[in-house]
Amino acid sequence: MLKIFYPYEYVESVFSIDYKKLYEKGYRGLIFDIDNTLVHHGEDSTREIDELFKEVQKIGFKTLVLSNNSENRVQKFLENIDSLYIHDAKKPSVPNYLKSLEMLNLKKEETVVIGDQVFTDVFGANRSGIASILVKYMDKGNEIKIGKRRQLEKLILGFYKRNKKYQNRIGNIVKEKE
Ligand SMILES: [Mg+2]
Repeated sequence: MLKIFYPYEYVESVFSIDYKKLYEKGYRGLIFDIDNTLVHHGEDSTREIDELFKEVQKIGFKTLVLSNNSENRVQKFLENIDSLYIHDAKKPSVPNYLKSLEMLNLKKEETVVIGDQVFTDVFGANRSGIASILVKYMDKGNEIKIGKRRQLEKLILGFYKRNKKYQNRIGNIVKEKE
């Protein structure tokens, strides 16, 4: 069954999500992936991302960064961001998703995972019973060779896009274009 890889929502980027609407729907916690979700792989945070964390926290969200990367990398990324985090998370393994809920002190129904990878972020969220928003991964525009994993991901998302039943399961959370 492919549905274990299907996100609840699939959007352009972390900036296209209407976090106020997400909050109105009862969500209180955001679990973010870092690499290719918030910034290009290995890069430091940007002013826009630092602002984004402040903005969602102002709305009332608790945040947690769940990364398979090392503690050094995650701490450096969070230099100007006040957020809970788990490094070396071993996504898509379930334990650190559950630990995230514990740290946030929230139920799985109140939490959303936001990431760029079907086989780690989304798969782990589905196995843990947590809703997920897949964002288009940030590529640098000069990566000609697409990895096998990304090709397989594309295939799965092709099926996902043809299966309306699994799309927009949170519903109406994309920012309207100004
Ligand atoms: Mg990622």
